[in-house]
Amino acid sequence: MPKIYLIDVTNRDGVQTARLGLSKLEKTMINIYLDEMGIFQSEFGFPTTRHEQHYLQANLEMVQRGIIKNIVLEGWIRGIVEDVELAIKRIPDIKHLNLSSSTSSQMIDGKFHGRKTRDDIIHEMTDAVDATLAHGIKSVGVNAEDASRTDTDFLVKFGQEAKAHGAVRLRYCDTLGYDNPFSIYETTLTLAQKVELPIEIHCHGDLGMAVATSLAGAKGAIDGGQDAYINTTINGIGERAGNADLVSVILAITKSKDFNEKYQLAGNIKLDMAWKIAQFSSYAFGVEIPINQPGVGKNCFAHASGIHADGVLKDPQNYELYSFEELGRGEPILVETGREICTGQYSGISGFRHVVNNLSEDITLPENKDKANEILELVRYANVETHKPLVEDELKFICQYPDIARKLLTMTPLA
Ligand SMILES: [Zn+2]
Repeated sequence: MPKIYLIDVTNRDGVQTARLGLSKLEKTMINIYLDEMGIFQSEFGFPTTRHEQHYLQANLEMVQRGIIKNIVLEGWIRGIVEDVELAIKRIPDIKHLNLSSSTSSQMIDGKFHGRKTRDDIIHEMTDAVDATLAHGIKSVGVNAEDASRTDTDFLVKFGQEAKAHGAVRLRYCDTLGYDNPFSIYETTLTLAQKVELPIEIHCHGDLGMAVATSLAGAKGAIDGGQDAYINTTINGIGERAGNADLVSVILAITKSKDFNEKYQLAGNIKLDMAWKIAQFSSYAFGVEIPINQPGVGKNCFAHASGIHADGVLKDPQNYELYSFEELGRGEPILVETGREICTGQYSGISGFRHVVNNLSEDITLPENKDKANEILELVRYANVETHKPLVEDELKFICQYPDIARKLLTMTPLA
């Protein structure tokens, strides 16, 4: 039976969102957490963008060194040869790419004003796929941007051509959140049957249905005999109204009525990482988690009214669909209300030593003064990007892998 895989695109769709962004260290922490959580793939950035270069290379080095263990790190570029060449020149170790082409008449006409035909779009894409494989890229997926407003026959042709040239997956992008669960099911079923490639489902929440359409799209792919790959972002952060939320998608697949009898997640997803990854992402983006967000919102396990409180005290299953423990919730959080020493871009060694000594885990600064100062310097540079105190895991990461942190934090504009 085909399965459902998860590809998280927080480090691509999430960070390209208006008003929001992440530091390179925060993006790295997200890759580490997604890996720990058992997510299949992270779309970890933009290989043609100069300021991503050291971050992307450093994360690929973490894979080579076994620090990032199982997750596939894949870069996102436009489906043109020029981008493929530039991506490989900038990021020589990259092994997985997704190539994006606009496929709807709206976008082909609306963006290119008659300069490109549908045939041009297909030729550009197949040339780009050929170029990736000529450079030894291990897996290449093609993205049909605005697929939900694209004529299905053209999508089928686009997918078949991609397959003939060696692409391993077709990404169906509901770029504007236009689909509903019924419409997307029909299309992904047709694509799976006629293209005979695994189908990626990339949904947006403009009509409040990103999670529902993701599930329906996955069902279509599987009913058509192909694996489904759902694109998610942490806390649903993404362009405009956002993407399908990672935790909600996992809950919907595993907990909704009868769904996972036939449609199951591949691999071993650790749902108990949900709380941690949602909290970190919220802090990193500077966007609070809504009180009613599925699984990780403050109110998800809160009961006030008499009938509900009485019922849940007698048996939690009376009013809770799943337990907070499954999501890694339940630990009290200690919040300092008195004096605090924080890290910042102008921190000094004495304050920094105090911060590290107060970390709960067994991480100490090197006794050697020069070495300790090197770590401090990296923490300062990390703060230049974040403008807020680093979390414990970030500090630990810098203490443990100062050489990688140095690479992540290196940016050389206009060189
Ligand atoms: Zn998107």
